[in-house]
Amino acid sequence: MKGKIIILSAPSGTGKSTIIQRLMQIESLGLGFSISATSRAPRGEEKNGREYYFLTPEEFDRRIADNKFVEWEEVYAGTKYGTLAEEVERVTGSGRNLIMDIDVKGAVNVKKKYGEAALTIFILPPTLEVLEARLRGRATDSEESLQRRIKKADLEMTLAPEFDCRVVNDDLDKAVADVRALIEKFIEPGA
Ligand code: ADP
Ligand code: 5GP
Repeated sequence: MKGKIIILSAPSGTGKSTIIQRLMQIESLGLGFSISATSRAPRGEEKNGREYYFLTPEEFDRRIADNKFVEWEEVYAGTKYGTLAEEVERVTGSGRNLIMDIDVKGAVNVKKKYGEAALTIFILPPTLEVLEARLRGRATDSEESLQRRIKKADLEMTLAPEFDCRVVNDDLDKAVADVRALIEKFIEPGA
């Protein structure tokens, strides 16, 4: 069955985007990525409509007022991220399974909303030290942003038990294989 919702969450730097990129290449999973809206500016090579829909803070707030979001969160102070209802329709309407990369609070909310139609997977870093090393290795954040993300990670990990399943991203190939198996079981339970 198509049109199911798969949600991957993890503290920033754990490897969630890397895992999603790999999963998107597995055609049999029929995944379509949910492009979120954000009020932050593009980073590096990011393009509007590819990684995110980049909105001004005013445009973002107007869509909140107009009830256009399935969920949204102020993930970092002053920066909002959210999933537009029309994005969910765009992907599920095309017959694909929607894969979402959203923060842990957003994931818990989407699960409440969609119940059995949604699978929440929490990706865990092997340790907080490894997480910090990955963030530094990625080299996309200022020292201040990096510290903010690490501080937040501790709190986010406390929500891991609320997810349907948990996968540790130590060896990348193994993590991708584990997540793939969970998704296959979810989309084709009898297979
Ligand atoms: P997230 O989307 O969770 O913020 P990224 O996918 O951007 O994280 O990964 C953060 C950094 O860690 C990237 O530089 C990525 O290449 C690296 N990375 C991801 N998974 C692994 C892994 N299993 N082992 C080592 N490095 C990894
Ligand atoms: P970044 O700024 O590194 O791209 O993303 C920061 C965080 O925002 C990540 O944890 C990501 O999962 C989260 N995020 C991205 N899109 C959404 C969304 O639509 N809703 C929610 N709740 N979080 C999101």
